[in-house]
Amino acid sequence: MKRALLAPASFALLISILSAPAVAETLSVAPGGVVRWPGLEVDRCGQAGRTFAAVAGDCWYAIDLLTPAGEMRLSRWRRGQKESATVRISAYPYEVQHITLDDDSQVNLSSADLARVKEENRRIGALWALDTPRRFDLPLSSPLESLPSGGRFGSRRFFNNQPRSPHNGADYSAAEGDPVLAVADGRVALAGDFFFSGGSVFLDHGDGLISMYFHLQELAVEQGRDVKRGEVIGSVGQTGRATGPHLHVGLRWRGARIDPSLLLASTEQIPTIPD
Ligand SMILES: [Zn+2]
Repeated sequence: MKRALLAPASFALLISILSAPAVAETLSVAPGGVVRWPGLEVDRCGQAGRTFAAVAGDCWYAIDLLTPAGEMRLSRWRRGQKESATVRISAYPYEVQHITLDDDSQVNLSSADLARVKEENRRIGALWALDTPRRFDLPLSSPLESLPSGGRFGSRRFFNNQPRSPHNGADYSAAEGDPVLAVADGRVALAGDFFFSGGSVFLDHGDGLISMYFHLQELAVEQGRDVKRGEVIGSVGQTGRATGPHLHVGLRWRGARIDPSLLLASTEQIPTIPD
């Protein structure tokens, strides 16, 4: 299944690497995906005007869920020399999902609830700018003791027939009370009860990587505390806007909303730019 996300024709198309302009190939990646560019003696990586360190020699680029189809330029610096590559962002590939909620106040919010959500979004949005030293390795570890296949990342959602934001994370079915585990070492950047996501924990793992765990029944950690990879941070529930007990896991990497399943357990399937 290696490279399963590559378009079949991708090897025939052009990838422009400045140091080797004759190579003909373009890598295709879905919005919400991740691209890897492995190499030796890579100092820095660059994307959209921002530079960041390589992880064990590899550059990892996070592609936001709402990136429009088209081309994206990625860079790296090796022994001080800049190299660039172009990847193709595919059209939005995710399904449409219709969800019916009995409680219409979770779809058509009262002005008090709207004000609450706005304030919560302000606190949550501040996390995307965190830039602390990296404390994680890839792949990340499982947020549940056994991880079922996760689903619904990116689905375009209609709640009671009204369009709402696409699903920014992956839902894992689990029983109420099951322990929820930190996917890597980090610090609790935010924890509490939120209108849509219910009992929620946000962990900062450094290098702009934030993991999120939603709809928790109980929280086992407080804001500001350091956690270790695999540590219990709460338990599965169905708090907030949820139709049943499950664990919602979200990942933001340098601000980009990405499919968490790409970095959990295995990174084998991630589209890779040839070194
Ligand atoms: Zn979810």
